[in-house]
Amino acid sequence: MNVAARARSTCPLCSGSRHAPYVVVKGYAYHRCADCGFAFLDPMPSQIDLNAGYQGHKGIAADYYPHPSSRRRKAFFRALRLIRRIRGRSVIDLGCGGGFFVGAARLLGAATATGVDVDASTIAYARRAFPGCDFHCASLDSFVPATRYELVHCSEVIEHAPDPHVLMRLLLACCRPGGYVFVTTPDLGSRYVPARIEEWPGFAPPVHTGLFTEENLRALFDRYGFRPVLRLPPRKTGMKLLFRLESAS
Ligand SMILES: [Zn+2]
Repeated sequence: MNVAARARSTCPLCSGSRHAPYVVVKGYAYHRCADCGFAFLDPMPSQIDLNAGYQGHKGIAADYYPHPSSRRRKAFFRALRLIRRIRGRSVIDLGCGGGFFVGAARLLGAATATGVDVDASTIAYARRAFPGCDFHCASLDSFVPATRYELVHCSEVIEHAPDPHVLMRLLLACCRPGGYVFVTTPDLGSRYVPARIEEWPGFAPPVHTGLFTEENLRALFDRYGFRPVLRLPPRKTGMKLLFRLESAS
C-alpha cells in the first residue's frame, strides 16, 4: 500500500500530547499515549489510502469468498448470542465483509438486515449470497445512513479507523436512541498479549491504525452516550462489548 502519512502531535483518541514511541512492526511505528493508553500509528496513514488498499484482497469476487461455511457458522453463533437484539429488529453491520453476519441476522428473524463495506468485491459476494438483505458499497467515513437501526454490529472495524471519532459519529448516526451497538476489537490490555509485544497480531500495520484497551474503549463510548450492557467472554486477545445508546428521555 502506498501510504501518504503525516506525523501527529496529539493522540487521536484523547487529544493528549504526551505520547512516545511504543513498538515498530514491519517498519511502521506505533506510539502510545501516556494519558489514555491508546496505541496508534505515527505517522498515521490517510483514510483514502487505506480505503484503496481494502479493495479485492484475498481474491474475493461475487462467486468466491475464502472459507464461506466456517464464516457462516461463526456468524450464526455470534447472531445467536445477540438474538434478543435481532429478532423483529432492524440491524446494520458496518464493515460487513461478505455479509455473513447480515445473512445470519436475517435468518434469525431480523425485520431488516443491512450491510455496508468499502470493498466492492465483498459487497458483490454478499448481494449474491444473501438475497433478502440490503447491501451498500461505501467507505465508513462517507456513509450516510438513510435511517436509524436497533442493532449496529461493528466487528473488527474500529482498529482500522485513523480517526476513531469519525467512526463514533457514524455509530451515533446509525443507532436509534435506546438501541444497541455491538463492537469487537483487539484488546491491548489483555493478559494474553505476549511479553514481546511486537509479536502480537493486533499490531497489523498499516491497516490496524489504533489499538484500544477495554478502559479507553469504554471511555470513548461513554463520551458519545453509550452505556455498557454486556461483555462476552473474550476469545484470545479480543474484546466483545454490547453498548446501549441512552434514550433522549
Ligand atoms: Zn490518548
